[in-house]
Amino acid sequence: MPTATPAHYKNDSPAGFPDVDPGYKHRLFEQVMADHRMPDYIYGCYECGICVAVCPSARFYDFSPRRIAQAVARQDFELVFQQMQEDIWECSQCFSCLRCPRGNNPGGIITVMREVAINEGLATAKQALEGYSRIIYKIMSTGTQVSPDMLQPDAFPDWGPEVKDVSVNLDLWRRALPPETHHTTSTGWSVSERTLIELYLIWMQTGALSMIKDVDEGLHMILEEVMEERLEEEGIEI
Ligand code: SF4
Ligand code: SF4
Repeated sequence: MPTATPAHYKNDSPAGFPDVDPGYKHRLFEQVMADHRMPDYIYGCYECGICVAVCPSARFYDFSPRRIAQAVARQDFELVFQQMQEDIWECSQCFSCLRCPRGNNPGGIITVMREVAINEGLATAKQALEGYSRIIYKIMSTGTQVSPDMLQPDAFPDWGPEVKDVSVNLDLWRRALPPETHHTTSTGWSVSERTLIELYLIWMQTGALSMIKDVDEGLHMILEEVMEERLEEEGIEI
């Protein structure tokens, strides 16, 4: 782990994590900046605040896409490290901040910062993703997002009595939808065998599946088993 800090990097922010080696913080920042998407995501900042005005998360949390863009643009690796512990998990990834007149993509920068946080196994990444294991399992095993049968009255008491009505007659409601691909209750929509195999291969070959291991080893094991079994049935060896 490098401990030396290049002199040209700005480092005058109050360090939120004084016990953490600055060399480690700097290495994480370098990983963020080395991502091939970053040249398209940050061009500097006018400090106009448009991204904050359109950001739904900024309305509910002490969170600002402007602060993220500025910290990265100023190469303030201490602040970027701090944001990787806290702020980045408050973004809802809606990408409204693409309205930035400077052409920045704060939501995209956050995506990259999250990926580095997960790859590094930061404790905050694990905490942030803890509540999503069921959704990750659903998406990565079936190839679709949240499924209709997850709509249970106990899970959504604040949605009122309609949830119960819908969940009792779920099959009927789904069959009333015009696209036939939506006539399912255990998946968001029907995914063809070929698409599913392609998704499994993409997740395995790109390392997306391995990223899960750093966050939730048990979930990773289950997903790996599901994917390998299906690929084996297709005669595909990894
Ligand atoms: S992507 Fe994130 S930072 Fe951008 S507007 Fe949406 S919530 Fe805010
Ligand atoms: S909209 Fe763009 S230029 Fe304006 S504060 Fe946000 S990141 Fe900076």
